[in-house]
Amino acid sequence: MPQTRKTNKSAAVDKDIQIVIAGAGGFIGGNLARYFHDKGFNRIRAVDKKPLSAWYQRIPGVECLCLDLSREDNCKRAVEGAREIYQLAADMGGMGFIERFRIECLRSVLINTHMIESAYKAGCERYFYSSSACVYNTDLQKDPKVRALKESDAYPALSERGYGWEKLISEMFCQEYWAERRMKTFIARFHNVYGPWGTWTGGREKAPAAICRKVIQSVDEGAKTIDIWGDGTQTRSFMYIDDCVKGIDRISHWDELIATPINLGTSELVSVDELVSIIEKIAGVKLRRRYQPDAPRGVAGRNSDNTMIKMILGWEPDTPLRLGLKKTYQWIKNQYERRKQGKSTVD
Ligand code: NAD
Repeated sequence: MPQTRKTNKSAAVDKDIQIVIAGAGGFIGGNLARYFHDKGFNRIRAVDKKPLSAWYQRIPGVECLCLDLSREDNCKRAVEGAREIYQLAADMGGMGFIERFRIECLRSVLINTHMIESAYKAGCERYFYSSSACVYNTDLQKDPKVRALKESDAYPALSERGYGWEKLISEMFCQEYWAERRMKTFIARFHNVYGPWGTWTGGREKAPAAICRKVIQSVDEGAKTIDIWGDGTQTRSFMYIDDCVKGIDRISHWDELIATPINLGTSELVSVDELVSIIEKIAGVKLRRRYQPDAPRGVAGRNSDNTMIKMILGWEPDTPLRLGLKKTYQWIKNQYERRKQGKSTVD
């Protein structure tokens, strides 16, 4: 059994360096900008193609640029003077989106192609890339009682069509920019991230946010039922956003992990039915479940094997699901009520 090492100071330290966060109008990028801002970083540039009014978070003191990063000239502008770059921009969403819009998902390769080359040319010292558990071989995920996926399970490759293959190619870019050009790159494979300040409606939302919204709506409308995609047996692990941003910081400042994909997720496996039960408990209701077997459902089971992250960082995401969901539920409820009152649902 590998020995667990104690965490050392694996985090950004120089508060005056130029940091660039791509995809900062979205869920994880926005929370990452907030995280670095709260840690006292002075020069954060947030970039996203969405208009500012649609960003989940706009943080005072953070420079915001609206740029389409699938274009090379915009990437050059975005990374000017950057010492560290966190690349989270992608055209993506939950299963409902990535099963239906594979071309859009594949086209994120344009963002990743131009961002990493621009980063290299700008002399970037650390480049973080947000990969996904969707890179893993789908043959290993056919049973809800899935064996947790370890980093080597991505090859031989049989990734999720579209989204997963694009992530795998972009991981390879990161590895080759280190191998051939010596730019330090860092790659985390996220497993289902959830939390406040993320997509909760509109078709791109993921299971935890979608179920929170459906429960809130059922309570609000006095309905007694909830629609569930699939048969409720699919299993997943879910990581709270605070753990995700902390993990990104740690991974990006740990040189042993250069160009080495690593799982960033929890190993607390739950079924969709269990997820619904937890959220019902938070809401104080019990709803009749109407299963939709033909709706997008993804692989049967997926869990994160955290042996590597525990061994290298001496840490793993550890926010209990119930706690994270409670905070997420409250935030979505607030957004739901604001929308009902015709108020803006972003900050
Ligand atoms: P998100 O959709 O909330 O944020 C992505 C942002 O990228 C959006 O704001 C979008 O407008 C922006 N974007 C898209 N195309 C762009 C372009 N051409 N130029 C500039 N900006 C563009 O998604 P998220 O959940 O915050 O995910 C962030 C990253 O983490 C993505 O790379 C995603 O694939 C990865 N990831 C997320 C999860 C998860 O559970 N949320 C799981 C695995 C991997």
